[in-house]
Amino acid sequence: MIPFLDLRAGVTEIWDELEPALRRVHTGGRYILGPEVEAFEEEFASYCGVRNCVGVASGFDALQLILRALGVGAGDEVIVPAYTAVPTWMAVSATGAVPVGVDIDEATWNVDAAAVDAAVTDRTRAIVAVHLFGQPAAISKLSDVASRHGVALIEDAAQAHGASVDGRRVGGLGVAAAFSFYPTKNLGALGDGGAVTTDDDGLAETVRRLRMYGSSVRDVSETKGVNSRLDEVQAAVLRVRLGHLDRWNERRRELAGRYAAALGEQLAMPRPPRGTEPVWHLFAVAHPSRDAFRDALAERGIGTLVHYFPLPHLTPAYRVDGWREDSLPVAERLSERSLSLPLYPQLRDAEQDAVIAAVTSCLER
Ligand SMILES: *Cc1c(COP(=O)(O)O)cnc(C)c1O
Repeated sequence: MIPFLDLRAGVTEIWDELEPALRRVHTGGRYILGPEVEAFEEEFASYCGVRNCVGVASGFDALQLILRALGVGAGDEVIVPAYTAVPTWMAVSATGAVPVGVDIDEATWNVDAAAVDAAVTDRTRAIVAVHLFGQPAAISKLSDVASRHGVALIEDAAQAHGASVDGRRVGGLGVAAAFSFYPTKNLGALGDGGAVTTDDDGLAETVRRLRMYGSSVRDVSETKGVNSRLDEVQAAVLRVRLGHLDRWNERRRELAGRYAAALGEQLAMPRPPRGTEPVWHLFAVAHPSRDAFRDALAERGIGTLVHYFPLPHLTPAYRVDGWREDSLPVAERLSERSLSLPLYPQLRDAEQDAVIAAVTSCLER
């Protein structure tokens, strides 16, 4: 049996480093927004090559707080990709603005910059570029579109810690970026967590206030904010894991390369454009009868997951807003066919070979 993901393996591997870090938090006696959070914010900002990092409670909050800090709210539109996890859309909805879904490019599965351009209206305030599955979005084209229309380009980098475009790390490619440290992500905590990265000092300050009831001085709320804080245990864990991120991403690239070499002829899969260095948060393939394919793999002991079906606009939450089938056809077709294969840094070559053998035998049947 090869599971889709073994989260414990990523803890066991570095337990000797995690234990003293957790003890340090205990000894320090601070549990929310203390020295570990401050140190992590500095280290992660430097990793992403930006001036500021603000730790928050989740990736969803990171995105939501960036939008709020930019003044996005009721009456505004924010462009989001059709192919993404539902939090990208929900963070927009949480501000009172309307998420406007845009179709994707068939080769990369990332949002189509020309379609984004066509979707801009006089209500558009921002474009969210999702680096789907750890593959950088078409950032230079999207930057052009954003600056031509005078709207903000925001990165949803929840799946792409450490990915880069032309040697520049994600997290500093737009006005601000949202990261998630949900345990399954490339850089994951042992609970919820998230961060905003940005070169804009003012924006960082606003997010810092918003995460703590709108106050920069204790108990004096300058604006109405929320409670969205990173805790010391998660920050201590993230500091340890950040030290392993590049090595883990390198292993993900190696595994992705092996999948692509073995299965790239038979199955459609996202193809990262030249100049991008993806970090393979997920390895998705497309199969015309996905559900039967998935069952056949399960019979052979291979765990898989589907990312994402239904897409956000076809969930009941967004159907009430009038979204229907065939509105975003490229994304919908891939969503019906997509299946993610096991890929995580601790997956062994022999296990991956077993996955490849099982996939190959299913395709031959
Ligand atoms: C995980 C994820 C988020 C949300 O992160 P949480 O920490 O779970 O709130 C947002 N966008 C994308 C693309 C994600 O994969």
